[in-house]
Amino acid sequence: MKIAVYSNLKEASNRVSASLINKISKSNSLEIDGQNPEIVISVGGDGTLLSAFHHYQDISDSIRMIGIHTGHLGFYTDWRDYEVQELIDSLEDDNGQSVTYPLLDIKVNYADGTPGDTALALNESTLRQINGSLVADVFIKGQLFESFRGDGLCISTPSGSTAYNKSVGGAIINPALNAIQMAEISSINNRVFRTLGSPLIISPDEWIKIVPNTNARTILSCDHQVVSTKTISSVEYRISSRRIAFAQYRHRQFWHRVTNSFIGEVDSGD
Ligand code: NAP
Repeated sequence: MKIAVYSNLKEASNRVSASLINKISKSNSLEIDGQNPEIVISVGGDGTLLSAFHHYQDISDSIRMIGIHTGHLGFYTDWRDYEVQELIDSLEDDNGQSVTYPLLDIKVNYADGTPGDTALALNESTLRQINGSLVADVFIKGQLFESFRGDGLCISTPSGSTAYNKSVGGAIINPALNAIQMAEISSINNRVFRTLGSPLIISPDEWIKIVPNTNARTILSCDHQVVSTKTISSVEYRISSRRIAFAQYRHRQFWHRVTNSFIGEVDSGD
């Protein structure tokens, strides 16, 4: 099986990567292939896995991801740095087991008529105003839903719901659900601008279109990257037909990860 190791440049990650590469090179059934891997192992944190996903995005339909965390356990990282041998054993026993999560399609059109761009997000996309507040109409499935005024809007996947979305008051969604969520970033509510004021979740047959005010100067992001700072005429968000796949050698309950990451030890009260 062909494996790529994608690491952040921190010392702890470099140590883990070196150990992984050494063990893979000694294995009879595993080999290193950074160009056409079947498995991509990211070493670092959730942010590193995000970068690894984008690095291999063009071939993401034919790869499975694995995350090793060199700090705490994360949402995309099932393995700890001291479990390298256990992971190698699992790779050697691999029988193609996987779990997949939804991704977000982003399609942007520009006001100057230049060709639009598309992007694929694993966590989220945000549309924010460079300075002042963003004024935009929000459509759901082609129907005007609200006129927004505020810092911006965050559209996230279920697996991204624990990232930026959570910081702006969005709900946490189990990635087993095929849905996307829109959360407001500091909306202004008065007699002229009235927004829902709470996050909303749309189903697979729906889409969200945001039409900024004609002279809005915006930043459109996709995960950790800026997609565009050009003047946008509209941006559309849909649940992608593509999904991210993870090699699933052991099962970690999603809500257990949430407790572990955000709450810590919970006393059952017994
Ligand atoms: P970063 O600013 O260096 O780190 C952002 C933090 O978000 C890291 O602690 C990272 O975990 C964590 N994270 C990433 N994906 C997550 C997920 N799905 N669930 C829970 N936590 C997650 O940026 P980065 O490492 O390149 O990651 C980019 C992401 O940062 C964006 O997609 C956005 O979601 C998030 N972000 C959040 C805020 C905010 O909450 N106010 C602001 C900007 C960006 P690790 O430490 O394990 O890498």
